[in-house]
Amino acid sequence: METKRLVVPVAEEILGREYSVLNKGFIRLVDYMGGDESIVQAARVAYGKGTKKVSEGRGLIRNLMRNEHTSPFEMVEFKWHCKMPIFVARQWIRHRTANVNEYSMRYSQPRDEFYIPALERVKFQSSSNKQGSGEEVPKDLALEFVDWVINTDDDSMKKYKKFSDENIARELVRIGLPLNTYTEWYWKCDLHNTLHFLKLRMAPEAQYEIREYANAMAGIIKQIVPLTYEAFDDYVLGGVRLSKQEIETMKKYGMKISANELEESNLSGGEQKEFLEKLKKFE
Ligand SMILES: Cc1cc2nc3c(=O)[nH]c(=O)nc-3n(C[C@H](O)[C@H](O)[C@H](O)COP(=O)(O)OP(=O)(O)OC[C@H]3O[C@@H](n4cnc5c(N)ncnc54)[C@H](O)[C@@H]3O)c2cc1C
Repeated sequence: METKRLVVPVAEEILGREYSVLNKGFIRLVDYMGGDESIVQAARVAYGKGTKKVSEGRGLIRNLMRNEHTSPFEMVEFKWHCKMPIFVARQWIRHRTANVNEYSMRYSQPRDEFYIPALERVKFQSSSNKQGSGEEVPKDLALEFVDWVINTDDDSMKKYKKFSDENIARELVRIGLPLNTYTEWYWKCDLHNTLHFLKLRMAPEAQYEIREYANAMAGIIKQIVPLTYEAFDDYVLGGVRLSKQEIETMKKYGMKISANELEESNLSGGEQKEFLEKLKKFE
């Protein structure tokens, strides 16, 4: 059995390189373990032999991805250094299957760096998604909003410095800082759970800011484990999961379904919207 450490040349080139995200953030691959080959090797360990041909490996990886035979994907690990606004970190940290070590603002002072959204990013509250952004905001209102964010940042950093100079404990002074203050962490996660993170955070329902990090990460992972990413793209990102009711509705009305027919279906209001989104993939 092969025991040598797997080196992925493209990963070696990427190591340590900073990939900018948002106005001041980044992700940087600090270390990795394994690649597509390690997944094949793990899947085949039961047979006591490795796969020789790339084509065999590709088929095996695709089969594993299709059938959610996930543990071989856990054999690959990535360790990242990430810098993101606190509100992004709060969403990101919900992915419990990673190991995290965050910059401590009890120990060190925060950098004077804040996430300032671009004007085009400033949108009205979505009317259809309670968690999302909707239509464009007139430029003057967007400017006013961004000005408010910048002024709040300046003011809170000035006050932070003042109270810090007066030797108030850092663990307390930090509570006056806004959610768009940048923080940093090391984030280590296996490939299976990283793909799960990407699936959830690259989705259009995810907030734009965390999506930007997920997209940057996906761009890197795609290069390091191209066969796995291809299978992930084909079967997970590009695939569609249909419920029993959705299949019944499709059988009854076909792919082109009118508003009336949708109303008659067994689907709830939310399901109807999601079903229409899924049908778009067949257009
Ligand atoms: C668009 C969007 C909106 C969201 N909105 C909210 C919100 O409003 N409020 C909110 O609180 N959260 C929200 N979340 C966070 C969401 O509920 C999940 O906590 C987050 O996406 C992490 O997903 P996960 O638990 O599957 O991932 P991980 O924590 O990485 O876990 C991966 C998988 O491991 C398993 N697992 C991990 N830990 C356990 C455990 N303790 N017990 C059993 N199984 C476990 C599960 O199968 C899980 O899917 C939102 C997420 C998204 C993508």
